[in-house]
Amino acid sequence: MEHGSISHGAVKTEEEHRRDICTAGRWIHERGYVASTDGNISVRLGPDRILISATAMCKSMMEPDDLIIVDREGRRVSGMRQPSSELAMHLLIYRLRPDVNAVCHAHPPTATGYAAAGVPLDKPILCELVIGLGRIPVAPYGAPGTPELSAEMEPFVQGHDAILMANHGVVTYGPDLLTAFLRMETTEHFAHVSLVTELLGKQVLLSGRDVEKLEAARARYGAGAQSAAPAAPADSARSEAGPTERVTLTRRDLEALIDEAVRRDRTLR
Ligand SMILES: [Zn+2]
Repeated sequence: MEHGSISHGAVKTEEEHRRDICTAGRWIHERGYVASTDGNISVRLGPDRILISATAMCKSMMEPDDLIIVDREGRRVSGMRQPSSELAMHLLIYRLRPDVNAVCHAHPPTATGYAAAGVPLDKPILCELVIGLGRIPVAPYGAPGTPELSAEMEPFVQGHDAILMANHGVVTYGPDLLTAFLRMETTEHFAHVSLVTELLGKQVLLSGRDVEKLEAARARYGAGAQSAAPAAPADSARSEAGPTERVTLTRRDLEALIDEAVRRDRTLR
C-alpha cells in the first residue's frame, strides 16, 4: 500500500484511523509539505482519546503501530513511542473545536514562506478559496512545542480552519482526516497562486458583490469555521491592486465589512 487512500465510511475502526494517519503522512512527505521528520497528524478517536503521530519519525515511514494514543490532557494511554512535540497544539484545537476530528501540521514551502514573511493569505483573488477556507491568518510566533505556541494560536482557532504559524508552518483541521489534509493542500495551492500574482505585480481582487455571493455559497456548503471571507475592496467594482496601488479602506470600513460578513454567514447557516 505505497500510496493508499484514506478510507471512507462514517464510523471507522481504530485500525482504519491508524492506517489513514500513515497514508496522510506519506502524502504530506511525498508532496514536499514536510522535510525530514517534520510535521504531525492526529485524529480524535473519542471524547478522551487522541491518536497522534510520534516525534522524530519521517512521515513517509510510519507504521500503524508507531502511533500513540493520549487522553485529553496529553497523557500517553498506549504506544511505544513519544507523541509529537506539537501535541499541545493538537489538544488545544480539539478542546476549542468540538466539530474537529483531525489535525494536520506541516511546513509546505510556499505557505510557510508567507508565514515567515508574516503575510496572511487573506485577499479575495480565488473564488474557490473564499468558499472553502475564507481568510487564512498568521498566528504570531511561538517556539515549537511550548505553551507560548498554543497561547499565540488560541485566538485564531475558532474562526478559521487553516492557520499560518509565523516563522514555522501551517496547521489545518476538519471533521475528518481527509478534509484536514485537503485543507493543507488547498492552503499551499492558494499560497502558490498568490505568489504568482505577486511575481506578476498585479492582483485583480474579486468585487464585494462577488465575495458576497461566494459567502452565501460558503454558508450553504456549511464550511467548518465561521471565518470571514477575505475582505473585498470597498466599492463593488473589481479593483486592480498593483505593487504601487493601494486599495483604500479605513479600519472602520474593514471592520464593518467583516462584521457584516460574519453576521450574514451566521444568518444563512
Ligand atoms: Zn512544525
